[in-house]
Amino acid sequence: MSRTDPTFETGSRACTADSRPAGTGAEGGGPGGRDWARAMAFDHAHLWHPYAPLGAPVWPVVAADGVRLTLADGRRLIDGMSSWWAAIHGYNHPVLNQAVSAQLGRMAHVMFGGLTHGPAIDLGQRLVDLTPAPLEKVFLCDSGSVAVEVAIKMALQYWQGRGRPGKHRLLTVRGGYHGDTFAAMSVCDPVTGMHRLFTGLVFKQLFAPRPACRFDDPWEPSAIAEFADLIMAHADELAAVILEPIAQGAGGMWFYHPQYLREVRALCDAHGVLLIADEIATGFGRTGRLLACDHARVTPDILCLGKALTGGYMTLAATLTTADIATVIGHGEAGALMHGPTFMANPLACAAAVASIDLLTSGDWQARVDGIARQLVCELEPCRGLAAVSDVRVLGAIGVVETRAAVDASALTARFVDAGVWVRPFGRLVYVMPPYVMDPDDLSVLTAAITRVVADL
Ligand SMILES: *Cc1c(COP(=O)(O)O)cnc(C)c1O
Repeated sequence: MSRTDPTFETGSRACTADSRPAGTGAEGGGPGGRDWARAMAFDHAHLWHPYAPLGAPVWPVVAADGVRLTLADGRRLIDGMSSWWAAIHGYNHPVLNQAVSAQLGRMAHVMFGGLTHGPAIDLGQRLVDLTPAPLEKVFLCDSGSVAVEVAIKMALQYWQGRGRPGKHRLLTVRGGYHGDTFAAMSVCDPVTGMHRLFTGLVFKQLFAPRPACRFDDPWEPSAIAEFADLIMAHADELAAVILEPIAQGAGGMWFYHPQYLREVRALCDAHGVLLIADEIATGFGRTGRLLACDHARVTPDILCLGKALTGGYMTLAATLTTADIATVIGHGEAGALMHGPTFMANPLACAAAVASIDLLTSGDWQARVDGIARQLVCELEPCRGLAAVSDVRVLGAIGVVETRAAVDASALTARFVDAGVWVRPFGRLVYVMPPYVMDPDDLSVLTAAITRVVADL
């Protein structure tokens, strides 16, 4: 398949939700028949956006196709974020649209308690096939944070089932991000996360240093020393280790050595501690392997997937585990895994996920991600020489420019919008993880904009 797959191009245009030109809207005069000045005033006054004060600047989007977002004023932006790792195939994809429409014609939702349906079964089969063999029991959740909660609950119920309820704490590494619910927050980085805000309310877990050995540096055995000390000293109270394998995302966009993960696996085995791999950001090819664990040929006991699972169409996540763990949970006091969201295994989301996985596995994602990686390495390299830049790193389709001082995220986002790209920095990180379908010319626009904006810092 070429980078400019013609079926994708024509299909995406044919499926554009609102093709009316600006200024012809019915009620308001703006695109989509909306008075955008009034709409934005409402947004500022009433709607919270992620991790932002009410009224923080936001840009109205009226459509998205392929790798482009269309703003209400008609400007088209090349998307560098994949809507936070999710839209790996680009937006408004005809295959995903078709899968969701077809399912919508049958049923949008039905409870999963006591009932089941084709989309969940099809998705379960794909997830079992896609992941390493021991992972074969699938819990379908409604978001990544919930997948992490479920993973932790699996680990706790497992040790209860084994008659070891004292094994209830978690060990993780600094610089992680695992979601916004309370158990997930307890294993997020204690400094950049919300530990201080919620001291006493967030469980106190154990933290080893951020894995110091970089992905492509020679392995440095001392990098695992503190982690090894912690797991040895606390094995009796540890249910599980949880971490983002190889690539840490929202906690710092940091890529560490595969040997670190192999050592973690060996230490978990040696000390009777479960290993939870949170692949919510890294899963489905983002790091250049289908799963980031594949870089180290490590199989976790519990695996969390999310974000790109539905190709960015709908919220859905999954927690997988082994037959052994599932059996112990099943023989425990409760006799079941004690979790079950209202919208568990939503059929529309499952249908989107099945279509997205099929699109991924039948296509040339590996070549596309490798191509993006090579181009990011080459085109972001000049940033390394800039005064404001402390590091440049690339892994798979993830490119990171780390600055010496924290950036003004809103001001920088505005400059990127002016440059025709959607890049949303945070802290000291200006980073991109474009849809895999981005062609080299669009990617060059993206990297040139980053280089220019960072050069002006
Ligand atoms: C985004 C993310 C989560 C949380 O997922 P939500 O769907 O936002 O709840 C958990 N872990 C990792 C690694 C993530 O990147």
